[in-house]
Amino acid sequence: MKELSLYFHFPFCLKRCRYCDFVSYPRRDRSFHLEYEKAVFQEIAWKVEEESLRGRELSTVYLGGGTPSLLFPEDVERMLNYLQGFFTFSPSVEITMEVNPETVNGDKIKAFQEAGVNRFSVGVQSFNPRFLYFLGRSSSLGQIENVLSSMEKIHCSSWSLDLLYSLPFQSLPEWQQDIEHALIYHPPHLSIYNLTLSPVVPLYSFARRHSRVFPSPDEEALYFEWTMEKLEQEGYIHYEISNFAQPGAECSHNLTYWRGGEYLGVGVSAWSYLGGRRQKNTSSLKNYLRRLEEGKSPLTFQEELEAHQKLAEDIMLRLRTKEGVQSSYLLTRYRRGEVETKLKCLEYLSQEGFIIKEGERFALSKKGILVANQIFQEILD
Ligand code: SF4
Repeated sequence: MKELSLYFHFPFCLKRCRYCDFVSYPRRDRSFHLEYEKAVFQEIAWKVEEESLRGRELSTVYLGGGTPSLLFPEDVERMLNYLQGFFTFSPSVEITMEVNPETVNGDKIKAFQEAGVNRFSVGVQSFNPRFLYFLGRSSSLGQIENVLSSMEKIHCSSWSLDLLYSLPFQSLPEWQQDIEHALIYHPPHLSIYNLTLSPVVPLYSFARRHSRVFPSPDEEALYFEWTMEKLEQEGYIHYEISNFAQPGAECSHNLTYWRGGEYLGVGVSAWSYLGGRRQKNTSSLKNYLRRLEEGKSPLTFQEELEAHQKLAEDIMLRLRTKEGVQSSYLLTRYRRGEVETKLKCLEYLSQEGFIIKEGERFALSKKGILVANQIFQEILD
């Protein structure tokens, strides 16, 4: 039976960061968190029956948000026990929890580990207090350093930290300091994103008015080129556009997404991909709670991908990764004529230096990684 991944969305934070467009609410009252957990349990039971998932093996569980580290260790233990009533856990199951430094200390991290979490993803974003303030982060530098130090103390071998670049007035040396600061803690995994602001976030209007204080696209490319080189020198594998890992420390959960594997998403706004169908839960917390209370489905969107959509999506997702995509893989799964059209496009991109072709494998070159979104657009057209 095929493996399955599970994503749980916990949509509460201490307060909203100024760049955030995730579904998250600034609510910290525990009774409300528990009410939400109850609704998620109902959803799990409902979806297991609806999608005939009982007995499937979970290879990864991901507690994301929001700030799931606002939960208590016993809540996580209860959640994992509940899941074991429906699924079996793979012997090597990866259980990740996103952690925000202002919500934990060493003891709480240790207690999460004892409850079953075996991978932590720490939302650092920056070590520079000026940027933490600008982004509206709740964590202080001291809290960040505390949580990173505790990873070593609890002998956690699998954890990650997130950093953001392309911040206003951020110079290349300042960005380099952030990377150097992260490396002090020897993180097995790093996720590096550039700041992107959607029109709904408070910082968007600031960025519109003061676009010149942000690094230009050329500067951004320079920052990222330096990052790729530096992290490679430090022994990291650049295994996905935004992700770097020491050998063996890649995030299995995210690899499921990029390899087109099946996943069940639970909680407000969560996406699922099951049996070739993509589904999305309502993004409104109020509707989510109400629907489940009334015994109704939380889904607001569902689509079955057509063969040509699946093909384009499969190529784009696999191209995000270092392993890329193989022509034989595509030819055994999709219509030959459609695959050949896409292969011609990949050949053209390799002649332009955006794609590396090795035998029948295509993968993004360093030049291609810097303009990945444009490459994906070419593949979609
Ligand atoms: S902690 Fe994360 S999810 Fe919460 S508001 Fe900040 S960026 Fe958004």
